[in-house]
Amino acid sequence: MSETYPQSGRTEPAGPLDDLEQWDDDVRRRYPEPEKKAEEFRDYRAEARPEVKEFYRLHHRHQTVDFVRAKRAEFLPLAKRRMSPWEALEFLNTLVDDSDPDTALPQIEHLLQTSEAIRRDGHPRWFVLTGLLHDLGKVLCLFGEPQWAVVGDTYPVGCAFSDKIVFAEFLADNPDSLATEYQTPCGIYATGCGLDEVLMSWGHDEYLYHVVRDYLPLEALYMIRYHSFYPAHREGAYQELMNDRDRHYFGWVREFNRYDLYTKSAERPDVAALRPYYEDLIAEFLPPVLAW
Ligand code: FE
Ligand code: FE
Repeated sequence: MSETYPQSGRTEPAGPLDDLEQWDDDVRRRYPEPEKKAEEFRDYRAEARPEVKEFYRLHHRHQTVDFVRAKRAEFLPLAKRRMSPWEALEFLNTLVDDSDPDTALPQIEHLLQTSEAIRRDGHPRWFVLTGLLHDLGKVLCLFGEPQWAVVGDTYPVGCAFSDKIVFAEFLADNPDSLATEYQTPCGIYATGCGLDEVLMSWGHDEYLYHVVRDYLPLEALYMIRYHSFYPAHREGAYQELMNDRDRHYFGWVREFNRYDLYTKSAERPDVAALRPYYEDLIAEFLPPVLAW
């Protein structure tokens, strides 16, 4: 299919780059905390900020099989840049330097709040490190990618879109909705083939997975790769594509999600004071320099 996705990512207005964490905030608030009722969920969604709706309108229109393949070919050789993990954290932080401090935490503070909450609960060191790293794939924005190609919920392409995807109505504008081979629950994939065989909509999760895949335990890699796959880890969709390994490790993805969503607090982490602990932790698992 000759879909006109923007090769450079520049066909659509990218929007303010300093708003990135705000998208994540909106994703978070959109989902009810466990004790909230379904009506409140719908109420909230009805009130979603127009920018969020616009974000998903673009996201869902452009995340096609062809687009995902093109972005994988562009970024997965990991030949854009070489950075230490801490350099990547500081690089990512430049994304929000100009932002309004009342509306968005710097990325590094979200990452440290997540990892510190995991540490406080006495989890293993690889889990703490995963909290620190999990959003580093957002450096894609600094390589010129628009937000809809970096953040937001993820879902498989190449098969029928689930109605559990947020703003699923916008998927009618996705050209893949007209491709007959993509309209069955498993589409181009074999039933139960496992998510490793499945092309996910492109974003920071899949990208970071490839950057760190040689260094972290499988639990951590699942958390990183699927933390935005809400249709599956929150809604239970796409079971027909999963294998037993996926079902097992999604328990860890859900465990991680509690920390990603609900650790935001007014108390700002002291980055300088925490740095020595995290530099040690990084050195325990990762090489001094990573290919991005
Ligand atoms: Fe994320
Ligand atoms: Fe996050």
